[in-house]
Amino acid sequence: MYKSKAYSAASATSPLIGTTIPRRDPSEHDVQIEILFCGICHSDLHSVRNEWSMFNPTIYPIVPGHEIVGRVTKIGSAVTMYKPGDLAAVGCLVDSDRTCPHCKAGLENFCPNLTLTFNSPDKHLGGVTYGGYSDSIVVDERFVLRVPLNLNLAGAAPLLCAGITTYSPMRRWGVIKDKKVGIVGLGGLGHMGVKFAHALGAHVVVFTTSPNKKEDALRLGADEVVISRDANEMKKHAGRFDFILDAVSADHDINAYLNLLGLNGNLTMVGAPAKPLPVSAFSLIMGNRSFSGSNIGGIPETQEMLDFCGKHNITADVEVIPIQKINEAYERMLKSDVKYRFSIDMASLKA
Ligand code: NAP
Ligand code: ZN
Repeated sequence: MYKSKAYSAASATSPLIGTTIPRRDPSEHDVQIEILFCGICHSDLHSVRNEWSMFNPTIYPIVPGHEIVGRVTKIGSAVTMYKPGDLAAVGCLVDSDRTCPHCKAGLENFCPNLTLTFNSPDKHLGGVTYGGYSDSIVVDERFVLRVPLNLNLAGAAPLLCAGITTYSPMRRWGVIKDKKVGIVGLGGLGHMGVKFAHALGAHVVVFTTSPNKKEDALRLGADEVVISRDANEMKKHAGRFDFILDAVSADHDINAYLNLLGLNGNLTMVGAPAKPLPVSAFSLIMGNRSFSGSNIGGIPETQEMLDFCGKHNITADVEVIPIQKINEAYERMLKSDVKYRFSIDMASLKA
């Protein structure tokens, strides 16, 4: 065991502050990674503030962070896929049972014995797992991903959650050339959704509550931008969409978006507001529409997404911050004031 520097919160109402945490020494199949950048996902904030207590109560202290990019510093004797000096990435998952049908299908994200990167029982050290707001992490090589060498590292970190979470449902629901695709909420996930839908050739419409994001949305790849608080603008799009991705973190009216779907259209929810969203049966019945959810992605698809990003030179648009600004970043995220993902430069942890 060794000590790693980190930032943690002691309760749902405490700020994140500097601390040290234990990490295991790499065993046979483990890779030790020096963390260079870690993205800030809204899920980190939901978890720190225990907003998801109904499905995964937070155990304190919590060290969040599941958008990790770094460099391999040490490997276990049986590791074959990585060597010291390699770039490596870790997302939301660090282990699973590897034997269940989901694991066998490469859908480790649905394994009943899944270990999440933070706030999951830690099989090795006891207590809970600690995430990427830290200078180092040790992960089994099966849960380590390869970062294409052409990608900017600060911008690549958010691909590990915001990237896979938006890429996966688009592939599942057949987002291809000329499909009409809506993206609701231009935050960390939403802006990745715009980039992927554009790269896949779709006609992309962004729905935002922030009029000041219009120019950015067009630059990121949107063909049209709708200010969602304007009922007249919303009406113009009724019944037109093949697919809508909802990446909103807070309470909002989902029926307003279901009504924009065309025949057999699908709306997939990736945003995870704490409160249930009421759905009108008629919003679904009229037009054989479907409403579904999507949960990150498995390891093979995450690697596929990273390789797609390498090929299309896609990274997140990031504002790089030192870790000392983490609490300010959370407040800004709550005000939808992120362009479009914070990425923590972990060198700041040495300061
Ligand atoms: P984020 O960067 O904070 O973006 C959320 C966006 O939602 C905001 O930028 C804003 O966009 C919009 N929004 C915020 N408050 C709103 C309100 N009251 N009404 C309407 N729109 C509002 O968050 P994120 O990191 O992208 O995460 C988004 C959600 O996805 C979070 O709930 C997160 O936990 C969840 N998530 C789910 C998965 C999964 O596997 N399903 C994975 C990761 C994250 P505009 O300014 O454009 O309106
Ligand atoms: Zn996330």
